[in-house]
Amino acid sequence: MDATLEKVRILHVEDNPGDALLLKVELDEAFGPSFASSGKKAPAWDLTCVHNCREAKARLAKGGIDVVLLDLNLPDGNGLEIVRQITLAAPKTSIVILSGRAESEHASDVLRNGVQDYLVKGKADGGQIWRAIRFAVERQKVRNHDIRDLDQSQEGFKALMEMSIDGLAVFRDGVILAANWAFEKTLGYAAGETVGKPLAFFCDPEYAAYFQSQLQRAAETPMVVFGRKKDGGGVNLEFRAKSCLYEGAPAQVLGLRDITTRKKEEEVFLQRAYQDPVTGLPNRFLFFDRLNMTLQQAARVGGRVGLMFLDLDRFKLVNDSLGHQVGDELIRAVALRLQGVIGETDTLARIGGDEFTLLLAGLQETEQALQMARRILEALSKPFQLQRHELHVSASIGISFYPEDAPDSEKLLQRADMAMYRAKDRGRSNYQAYHDSMNASSVDRLEMENSLFKAMDRGEFSLCYQPQTDLATGRVVGLEALLRWNHPTQGAISPSVFVPLAEETGLIIPLGQWVIQKACAQAKAWQDKGLPPVRVSVNLSGAQFIKHTLPFLIDKVLKEVGLDPKFLEFELTESIAMRNPAFTLAVLRELTEVVKVRIALDDFGIAYSSLGYLKDFPIHSLKIDRSFVSDLGMGTKDEAIVEAIMVLARNLGLEVVVEGVENEAQMGFLRKHPGIIIQGYFLHPPLSEQEVEVLLGKQP
Ligand code: C2E
Ligand code: MG
Ligand code: MG
Repeated sequence: MDATLEKVRILHVEDNPGDALLLKVELDEAFGPSFASSGKKAPAWDLTCVHNCREAKARLAKGGIDVVLLDLNLPDGNGLEIVRQITLAAPKTSIVILSGRAESEHASDVLRNGVQDYLVKGKADGGQIWRAIRFAVERQKVRNHDIRDLDQSQEGFKALMEMSIDGLAVFRDGVILAANWAFEKTLGYAAGETVGKPLAFFCDPEYAAYFQSQLQRAAETPMVVFGRKKDGGGVNLEFRAKSCLYEGAPAQVLGLRDITTRKKEEEVFLQRAYQDPVTGLPNRFLFFDRLNMTLQQAARVGGRVGLMFLDLDRFKLVNDSLGHQVGDELIRAVALRLQGVIGETDTLARIGGDEFTLLLAGLQETEQALQMARRILEALSKPFQLQRHELHVSASIGISFYPEDAPDSEKLLQRADMAMYRAKDRGRSNYQAYHDSMNASSVDRLEMENSLFKAMDRGEFSLCYQPQTDLATGRVVGLEALLRWNHPTQGAISPSVFVPLAEETGLIIPLGQWVIQKACAQAKAWQDKGLPPVRVSVNLSGAQFIKHTLPFLIDKVLKEVGLDPKFLEFELTESIAMRNPAFTLAVLRELTEVVKVRIALDDFGIAYSSLGYLKDFPIHSLKIDRSFVSDLGMGTKDEAIVEAIMVLARNLGLEVVVEGVENEAQMGFLRKHPGIIIQGYFLHPPLSEQEVEVLLGKQP
């Protein structure tokens, strides 16, 4: 090692001339003649002595000193303070303390502050002093090398900070040491204003703890925190944090980026992609997302999920007759009412025109879902007041349950939808839970569509006739012709299943014409047999009704068969009649005034607002919908409704037919209202033509 040392240049800072001399003597002695005789090469040094701190600094400023031997007790300073001053004057020069015993208590302090060694005067001989000097110089060399590297990297680091477009701040022990321009600008501060502030100074108070806790994670992946600018404005910040060396000591660097705009754009995008613009509710996509998540979770914990499919009854009518604006308003109002009913954890969505879905997570009992359905129907039963219009709305609800009804979201929705259609079939304002039997009918749908076409040719259709009895006299006054499809393998299929299908496929036009022809011919045949003449009622479908040729075709049949038109009645459902009231009025006039047949308004009471038109339509009777009849005799609200319809009909000079009368309780209620006509299983089910013949033969 000595070979690498040329001449060691020593600066001895010592105010005591005796001590200064002693050092020189000890060094000379250690490497004097006795050392030379050992055959080793004596080291070389150059010793300069100064007497105080000021002189030392002046000498150091000139350079060329390798090591400072420092007394800690000088006339112009002592202890750590001198060490600091000397280090500052020559940061790359090593220091060895050579001081009195009194100062040795400072030893550990000064050693921590960059001093290489500590020797007590009189305790070390020349050889020991030299070894200390030699090691100090060597160690300083290594350190100087590091400092040079560090200086270079530090300079690069600072340049990077200055150039960075992202905000960067260096912090240590939770305090900011340095910050770049972008950092201060992002947070709305002037240059240098953030230095010295606690690290989390820019966090919204709500987020400060979160921010601190995420610093560790932010080393790997960018995190987001909500911050406050100097002026109080909010800002969304993305940040990362990483350990670094700053000015030779460990620190951390924080990178910040303002993502407020990006976040807003994301939000708008997400809203557009996931929100229904009319109601602000989740749309179909978001709903499926949530449904899938809920199902996954339920699968993990063995939970149950309920899915409700809600469809407004006759919404199309509102849209068609009052316009889309009122339609949208109604949808919004409905959404509001629904939100008022559902639970906090339930998800309500609008997935189509008048279709809403409701996700019931964490369901315990089926009854909870049914109860919710009842609450919803109740909430919708009060009229809506929209732009001068009072609208009465009802809904049909289908419910399916995970896991028993379906294993995944798509099937679950499909089944709730099926149940909803079943609820619609059963009349206004209804709900229905899914049952496996519903599925079978729709699986066969396609097959049925195909065989429906063949059925006409094969003569698989027939008519049966359900008597309508005058309550006062007990006489049969009418017969409703009801279509039957005798399917070769499936047996009798209900018209409520195949008539909608026949409508969709267009088959209803020839099929409906066949019904008119068949019913008229049958009525005429009974009359020709001498049976008391009774009118026959034929149901009209919507598709038939809008055909402009309908009155002409009916007239043609009547003439061909030779039936007096007063024995023919057409049943038009209230909802078909209300689709386009002006058109309805025109067709009904033609049918009643030109063709001279009778008209009955079927399924009356479930469409939303027909009373105003009733007095204008040339009709002869009202058929009160079955759904009002089921609870008659039990003191329910329905009794009041039925009574009100009866009063109304009487005032308008219309006949009232109550259909679906099944039991004595209902009869008991109806007997109090003479002058009405009863149709229902209680008196007669639909009968074959032979059965009708027998019945009419017994007529008084
Ligand atoms: P609708 O015109 O309301 O016919 C009355 C329905 O109620 C008939 O069902 C009848 O069988 C049923 N019904 C009668 N009394 C009772 C009772 O006491 N209790 C219960 N629960 N039900 C009773 P059906 O025959 O299944 O017909 C269903 C619907 O299919 C009819 O409803 C009608 O809208 C339609 N439809 C039937 N025949 C034809 C047709 O030839 N053409 C068209 N377009 N539609 C038809
Ligand atoms: Mg009918
Ligand atoms: Mg009816």
